[in-house]
Amino acid sequence: MEILIVGGGWAGCSAAVRAAKSGAHTILLERTDMLLGTGLVGGIMRNNGRWTAAEECIAMGGGELFQLTDRFCRHKNISFPGHEHASLYDIGKVPGAVEQYLRQLGIEIHFLARVTSVEQDGSYLQAVRLADGSIFKADAFLDTTGTAGPMPNCGKYGNGCAMCILRCPSFGGRVSLTGLCGIPEMHSERAGGFIGAMSGSCKLMKESLSPEIVETLNRDGVAIIPLPPELIENHLALKACQQYALPAFAKNLILLDTGHAKLMTPFCSLEHLHQVPGFGHARYEDPYAGGKGNSMRFLAMAPRDDTMRVKGMDNLFCAGEKAGLLVGHTEAIITGALAGWNAVQYATKKPLLTLPDSLVAGDAIHFVREQMAKPEGMQQKYTFSGSILFEHMKKRGFYTTDLTAIRNRVAVAGMINIYGH
Ligand SMILES: Cc1cc2nc3c(=O)[nH]c(=O)nc-3n(C[C@H](O)[C@H](O)[C@H](O)COP(=O)(O)OP(=O)(O)OC[C@H]3O[C@@H](n4cnc5c(N)ncnc54)[C@H](O)[C@@H]3O)c2cc1C
Repeated sequence: MEILIVGGGWAGCSAAVRAAKSGAHTILLERTDMLLGTGLVGGIMRNNGRWTAAEECIAMGGGELFQLTDRFCRHKNISFPGHEHASLYDIGKVPGAVEQYLRQLGIEIHFLARVTSVEQDGSYLQAVRLADGSIFKADAFLDTTGTAGPMPNCGKYGNGCAMCILRCPSFGGRVSLTGLCGIPEMHSERAGGFIGAMSGSCKLMKESLSPEIVETLNRDGVAIIPLPPELIENHLALKACQQYALPAFAKNLILLDTGHAKLMTPFCSLEHLHQVPGFGHARYEDPYAGGKGNSMRFLAMAPRDDTMRVKGMDNLFCAGEKAGLLVGHTEAIITGALAGWNAVQYATKKPLLTLPDSLVAGDAIHFVREQMAKPEGMQQKYTFSGSILFEHMKKRGFYTTDLTAIRNRVAVAGMINIYGH
């Protein structure tokens, strides 16, 4: 049984873990030279409802990647505006630890492996072909290629290539497996008829900030620096991550310590930044042109059902941003787990799993798909950590940090250790 995963971000890594642990020979193809995709410059976990969702996944036996990020946190249980009990993983350590863990599971990882064409028989995908001409066949496939870029999209819908961690000029831009199969994809919308959304944070080189700011960051994990009114650049409406589109994120520079100083704004002109006390020598680590723009996302989402199967295909599953307007590592890990699980179910001719909507994960997968069927739903982004999905979670009484309550809910749904082996 061969399961082939295209895209080594959090969704692809999570799908690979589930497939390999279910006994499949699992191959992961990644176009760059590192795992984690946009997660290479992320780091925020367990804020607000993500805490509940992560613990639920752990109770279901699918918690390996959450436990791994917990081990490599620089800070735990921190608060910043609108967000409680967050952890910040170390972006310098987690990618290597994930790669090592995947290799221990026997997952075959191919870097510099960019899928550019497919062989299919109608709705049955037979093989993918890489840019170098090599061919990989499998019984079931996963599209976890994300939605960021490629460069023409950042140029057309954003402020140009901002030279982000995805490094399209070196490795070639994102290519959608779903798109290659001829399935029409969806894109997010913004007020005013614009499409796509801009990534909502940058990384500043810590060493370029004042010693006082660095000390606060290292000690507390968070530093909040009020902006003089004349320097406020309000980019909240552009943001992919609506959970941080709160006035406090425009009026202040909010920094989080993920190894670099994560600046919670899509971009900010260096000229302005240099006028803020403590930022006189500030310089960007990601994107390199963070003074001008950021990567554009949510431009190619696959239609799917609640088992994570791509509509119109038999043996193609999707997860993470590819699976809808779902923002975040936690969201990618959870959908990746279900997609990886179901790819194996398909390949072994067993029934596909739909998570019950009495669980946070099952409810979110269903809710986001339904919302995306409405025009106004395409203007939203969905994350357990804020905005519309978190509100929905709270309305359903799902948000809690009580471990016993979470485990009980999973037990009542008959889902304890469902993914476990
Ligand atoms: C700057 C930034 C900061 C963020 N910060 C946070 C945060 O702190 N916390 C949080 O929870 N979320 C954060 N997010 C959001 C989060 O990173 C994503 O929503 C989530 O990780 C998406 O994972 P994914 O696997 O679906 O996609 P991606 O991370 O986009 O991964 C897709 C992968 O597929 C590869 N790929 C694409 N096409 C091909 C192809 N044809 N062949 C082979 N490989 C291919 C890409 O190279 C990439 O590695 C951030 C996002 C950005 C951009």
